[in-house]
Amino acid sequence: MGQKIQAVKGMNDLLPQAQKEFKLTVDFWQAFEDIVETWAHGFGYRQIRTPIVEQTGLFVRSIGEETDVVGKEMYTFSDSNDKLSLSLRPEGTASCLRAVVEHNLLYNSPQKLWYMGPMFRRERPQKGRYRQFHQVGVEALGFEGPDIDAELIAMSADLWDRLGIRQYLTLEINSLGNAEERQAHRDALVAYLQAHEDMLDEDSRRRMHTNPLRVLDTKNPDLQKIADEAPRLIDYLGSASLAHFDALRQLLDGLGIEYVVNPRLVRGLDYYNLTVFEWTTDKLGSQATVCGGGRYNGLIEELGGKPTSAIGFALGIERLLLLVQEYGQLAIQNPPEIYALHQGEGSVLPLMQAASLLRAAGLAVYVHCGEQSLKAQMKKADASGARFALIVAQDEVNSGTITLKNMDTHQQQTVAPESAVALIQQWKNT
Ligand code: ATP
Ligand code: MG
Repeated sequence: MGQKIQAVKGMNDLLPQAQKEFKLTVDFWQAFEDIVETWAHGFGYRQIRTPIVEQTGLFVRSIGEETDVVGKEMYTFSDSNDKLSLSLRPEGTASCLRAVVEHNLLYNSPQKLWYMGPMFRRERPQKGRYRQFHQVGVEALGFEGPDIDAELIAMSADLWDRLGIRQYLTLEINSLGNAEERQAHRDALVAYLQAHEDMLDEDSRRRMHTNPLRVLDTKNPDLQKIADEAPRLIDYLGSASLAHFDALRQLLDGLGIEYVVNPRLVRGLDYYNLTVFEWTTDKLGSQATVCGGGRYNGLIEELGGKPTSAIGFALGIERLLLLVQEYGQLAIQNPPEIYALHQGEGSVLPLMQAASLLRAAGLAVYVHCGEQSLKAQMKKADASGARFALIVAQDEVNSGTITLKNMDTHQQQTVAPESAVALIQQWKNT
């Protein structure tokens, strides 16, 4: 026997049944995907699917070299034939915008798009943090807002409602202003941090020069006071940025969406401006952020397109579903309604034909394969949760009939195969 090979650390199998360390099942996940499709369609968003591998330069340019994601979390390798550096995508926005620019989708109309799929980051695996994880993302391109900003936030809230978890999530919002406002704030912030340099940790001292806003995002409890008293970006916003933010807040108030303004909310990725937001929960330990998004007006131009307003968000499917599993609701698809069993010479073919007839009428049929006593098969039918059994044994073969059994009432009836659908419908209606 060869040695067993295991999955890569931090990358999960999604199985029909729950695992000890990873409780999400494929049925649950599938039910979620179905809801996402209906939800996105309900808001008029179109789906986009891009490759999982992109040129590394795409992420370096859009996310930024100094970010943790690009600096240390990416899976990067060279394509040996043409020495091109490639990376597994760590998030979806860059690929989405790359495709939009490449195919000129913004040529004559704005776009409302969504995507769903696996993302890859080499992080320390723990509950709610994986190396292959999955996101649903939404991008609205070519709209200046603030109406679209409010629509996106309302859209995320609507998904929480569909999953029964709205009450477990808190919305935080902030405005990052425009580039000049951020620069003025950055100068003040760096000066402030330099004045307090002896009190900073090593991480913050490094970030002070590369990405000082991130220092405010520190998780180190010793630095909370310094972060709290640092110059606030919101005090550096000009009238246009403030007007955008106020209008967004008014729309959210009108829609009954509660929020907290968090002046220190900056988000991990470099490309944001104006609106940023996050949905967090206190039910998932330190993996608290379920969904994050914001405006990134400069990014399309950065990727070679015309200057275009853009806003989007991404949610982590694993984190969201861990929350839904414990606190929300999500109806998973039932097992097949009909369990088909057979015995004796020549019974397989008529059974399969009858199963086809039933499926053509929209019923789900599980066909028992392999030889076993009828009694043993009936036990399996019982355990499967099917409401009906379809039986073809020697008598049925001889007479060209099939037998249907109602597992609840134990009623049993032998009929011509063509009458099977009608009989099941009749039983379902009583
Ligand atoms: P965090 O601060 O938790 O690392 P992030 O700011 O890096 O999150 P984003 O890049 O904004 O996350 O991605 C959006 C969402 O994707 C997150 O809010 C989270 O729900 C999910 N996510 C990010 N990284 C992971 C991961 N390694 N495993 C599982 N989910 C993740
Ligand atoms: Mg992260």
